Amino acid sequence: MSTKNKYRIPVPQNLLQRIDRTSPAHMGNLRNAVDFIVPENTPVLAAADGTVTYVKDDSNVGGPDPSYWNYSNFISIMHPNGEYTRYDHLERNSAKVRAGQQVRTGQEIAKVGLTGYTYIPHLHFQVFVFTGYNIWTDFDTIEINDFY
Ligand SMILES: [Zn+2]
Repeated sequence: MSTKNKYRIPVPQNLLQRIDRTSPAHMGNLRNAVDFIVPENTPVLAAADGTVTYVKDDSNVGGPDPSYWNYSNFISIMHPNGEYTRYDHLERNSAKVRAGQQVRTGQEIAKVGLTGYTYIPHLHFQVFVFTGYNIWTDFDTIEINDFY
């Protein structure tokens, strides 16, 4: 069975309040990002098997203003199908994985926090591919409709 575009909901189902695809912050190459509305401290789960490529969890700054954008704690994971996932607004010092580590679908990788540009507790999630060599700008998100 192909695993392309098959991603697990990256939070425990019983803590998920709703899925929001309407954030005005999801512009341009973030247009396919998805927000999972959950309480603070909700476990963040790997959406598929893969290798952790980046971990930032040293920020304790966030709030409802775009000036907080770069203060988001986040983790990114590379998957065997060539796609990457990214998880944002993580709680400070909550990362349970490090770059280079293999993770399995559903494995807890961190907790939801309020770092970065955020109004209410939620996990920002995006599936993306790189389109060039600048990891901060050269990427595009992929629309995912069949979470399981
Ligand atoms: Zn978001």
